[in-house]
Amino acid sequence: MRTPKISRELVNRAKVKIPGAVNSPVRAWNAVGGSPIFIERAAGATLTDADGRQFLDYVCSYGPTILGHAHPRVIAAIAEQAQLGLGFGAPTRLEVELAEAISSAIKCAEKVRLVSSGTEAGMTALRIARAATSRENIIKFDGCYHGHSDSLLVRAGSGGMTLGQPDSGGVPKALAALTMVARYNSIESVENLFRAAPQEIAAVIVEPVAANMGVVNPLPEFLQELADLAHRNGALLICDEVISGFRLNFGSVSETMGVAPDLIMLGKIIGGGMPVGAVAGPARLMDLLAPAGPVYQAGTLSGNPLSVRAGLETLKVLRESNVYAQLDASGARLEGGLRAALKKHAQTGCVNRAGSLLTMFLGPKRVIDADEARTSDGKKFAKFFHAMIERGINIPPSQFEAMFISTAHSDADIDRTIVAAEESLAEAI
Ligand SMILES: *Cc1c(COP(=O)(O)O)cnc(C)c1O
Repeated sequence: MRTPKISRELVNRAKVKIPGAVNSPVRAWNAVGGSPIFIERAAGATLTDADGRQFLDYVCSYGPTILGHAHPRVIAAIAEQAQLGLGFGAPTRLEVELAEAISSAIKCAEKVRLVSSGTEAGMTALRIARAATSRENIIKFDGCYHGHSDSLLVRAGSGGMTLGQPDSGGVPKALAALTMVARYNSIESVENLFRAAPQEIAAVIVEPVAANMGVVNPLPEFLQELADLAHRNGALLICDEVISGFRLNFGSVSETMGVAPDLIMLGKIIGGGMPVGAVAGPARLMDLLAPAGPVYQAGTLSGNPLSVRAGLETLKVLRESNVYAQLDASGARLEGGLRAALKKHAQTGCVNRAGSLLTMFLGPKRVIDADEARTSDGKKFAKFFHAMIERGINIPPSQFEAMFISTAHSDADIDRTIVAAEESLAEAI
């Protein structure tokens, strides 16, 4: 599709002053080609770009806007809070309320430290785990993303997978060597790593429902066995619920699956669309953090009032209206339509879904780990993506990012999306 005038002008200006024209790599559309659309505003399920065109949105800011864009109650809360000041370098009542709200929804979250991004949550969780165990190695899974800190940017899915770069430049080899990589859904691969470095592994970090290699659900028992294996070896289990927390139920999906994480990472939804992250766990671990304990962590804007107000209001709406049944029904409707579309056009592929998170993989008949995800047909996906954009449907510009559904997506929206997907699949052959 030809990039419309204003987006084209903006991208040309951006290329001069911003590396790769964007402030986060996936936004550059490198995996699908073409040049990105610049967004002017959004409301509900609809984005409006700088040229005035509208798109039904399945990116949802990559997760935070579970209530749809510019939800009136969230916006009112932020506006009211802005009148009271943007941050004080001192504690606020709001931070106590958000910690209490998280703690009452998530059993393992006895204490909560707020930070400004999921990346910081990951850094902090590792630091706590390393201090608590006096060990330095960690195990992560190929295709799982936990933010862009040095230790965790090893075979990290998401942007790295999209750009075909398993690892990042600029990460010290000595540090990357402490990160051991296992295969998602393979307990055997984790056992092998524990055998290779007994007594050296501080933590296993996992997305309980993976969403950064496309959506991949854990096989039955995988998470429980993982928790047992980690604990038998004296390591902690860190569940990264930056996407899944409050997305699939009001709280932690690990806990609904019967797993008790030692530390949990949150972000995205708990900031209602504003920058946020959190690490939470039992007091015995969390009190290792300064100033209670010896593990240093800090942030000028940590727990800033706008993010916390937006998050509190979002959680309030989520709890009041118990939206998860609706989100799951919307997800199921889209899943059914996409499966039928694949079948109708005799396209091989599969649809993975967890509640309102969904990925249609073009090519593989099954995806349970990153290797299977990587067998997807990127060229076909790129054609499909552009055909969807032309039909006014904004899906993530990568095979390896989840589609997000919000409470603002109506059945009619989903049905329109399915029609567009059928036509786009026919074009993408
Ligand atoms: C988005 C994400 C992060 C990183 O959060 P940022 O706020 O982008 O730093 C970490 N883990 C998971 C699972 C994520 O999806």
